[in-house]
Amino acid sequence: MQENYNQLQTRMGEIWNLTKAQAVLNWDRQTKMPPKGAAARTRQTSTLSRMIHEQYTSQEVGQLLENLGPWLDELDFDSQEASLIRLAQREFYKRTTVPADLVEAQAKASGEANVAWMKARQENDFASFIPYLERMFGLARQYAKCFPDADHPYDALLDQFEPGMTVETVSRIFNEVKGPQSDLIKAIHESNVEIDDSLLCQHYPKEKQLDAALEAAQILGYDLERGRLDLTTHPFATSFSVNDVRITTRVNENFLNACLFATMHESGHALYELGVSPLLEGLPLARGASSGIHESQSRLFENMIGRSRAFSIYLLPILQKYFPAQLGGADLDTYYRAVNKVQPTFIRVEADEVSYNLHIILRFEIELGVLNGDIPIKDLPEAWNEKFKAYLGIVPPTDTEGVLQDVHWSWGLIGHFTSYAMGNIIASQWWHQMAEEIPDQDELMAQGNITPIREWLIENVHQHGKKYLPAELIQHTTGGPIDSGPYLDYLGSKYKKLYNLS
Ligand code: ZN
Repeated sequence: MQENYNQLQTRMGEIWNLTKAQAVLNWDRQTKMPPKGAAARTRQTSTLSRMIHEQYTSQEVGQLLENLGPWLDELDFDSQEASLIRLAQREFYKRTTVPADLVEAQAKASGEANVAWMKARQENDFASFIPYLERMFGLARQYAKCFPDADHPYDALLDQFEPGMTVETVSRIFNEVKGPQSDLIKAIHESNVEIDDSLLCQHYPKEKQLDAALEAAQILGYDLERGRLDLTTHPFATSFSVNDVRITTRVNENFLNACLFATMHESGHALYELGVSPLLEGLPLARGASSGIHESQSRLFENMIGRSRAFSIYLLPILQKYFPAQLGGADLDTYYRAVNKVQPTFIRVEADEVSYNLHIILRFEIELGVLNGDIPIKDLPEAWNEKFKAYLGIVPPTDTEGVLQDVHWSWGLIGHFTSYAMGNIIASQWWHQMAEEIPDQDELMAQGNITPIREWLIENVHQHGKKYLPAELIQHTTGGPIDSGPYLDYLGSKYKKLYNLS
């Protein structure tokens, strides 16, 4: 058996090397590549995608997995061997279950839909995007049909981003948080407390912003011997190995938050990948467990640390060193209140902590409605605006600022949005548990000492990489299932104080 396992490990290692080579090409595409390099780069990454698919689904891997089946039952569930076999089984099953022509049709349709979406969004012309959306949702339905054993077709879509997650769990969690979050926004609106965030909206020179953001990332624990920061239109983090995880950020010279908090967010993603056990290096286990677990780490570093009053005690003097004219006279409370101002906006990526999940929940409900056939594609703008009004109290003036704002559906990423909101909820569970185990969390953050927090996360979350499914990892750490309670407590206590609510 050991011989079979060694062979599987070798094959998985080769696949991982191809995957990481592809990641380098994609990082370069978005940071350094001149525009005319695009066509060749697409060919190169497509070839790698095909090779990765062929290796995961090869006859040899199929045979090895069959041989290893009985051994898996004897292995310790938590062992690296068992985890790698389970991962290879899942990849093999999913990749051999979905027909190659469907994968090809999705790739082709998403390329065309993406071009149509960019034009429709620019021209505020939803009607022109209808046929492309029909096609992308149609293909998603076909994909879901490949997995007839799922309790709900949407489960198959969710599984692409959150392995094992079900529509039942997502609906339960979203129904628990939707009302309280919506009520909190109403109460904040009715409180008549106006937070002045004008100090953040001054002119902040680009180079200084990048220097300040990088220093903030380093305080969080981001290590430049194992990473680097670059500038892109859309910030992201990408990992090439457990010792090389890169982040990117963006700058708005008239708003301090964009660069600072995007950088802390991406640092959270990067610290997760940097915290994976070196024992998993070189295997497909050396990565985050899912999109939602990843987002739990980025949101934890961005919001629970980055936007906390305790960490602001340490961070504000550092920001004042970079921006003496803009922030020199700012006191802690003015700064803390400004970076946590609640103001419902039409655009998801600009949303504050209180509104954010509502942006996701309405997208989830719409995706489900379209898949079930309850919402015709042509009625999406009305469905969107109705839900916006109900949950956030505002209605986007145009479809460009409404239903057309996200790139996801054009790429066929249906089922992906939920991960963003689940990340917030999971982050709070861990934050809550950590507070019990590290009672001086606030004092440490106020001294800029994030090491104990990071070590807790490495021990409980990061080191495991992709050994567990999201629900297994949550169970492993917290001893229970995903739970919205800590999240509602966190939001309630933070924002009731900020807005003088009872
Ligand atoms: Zn993120």
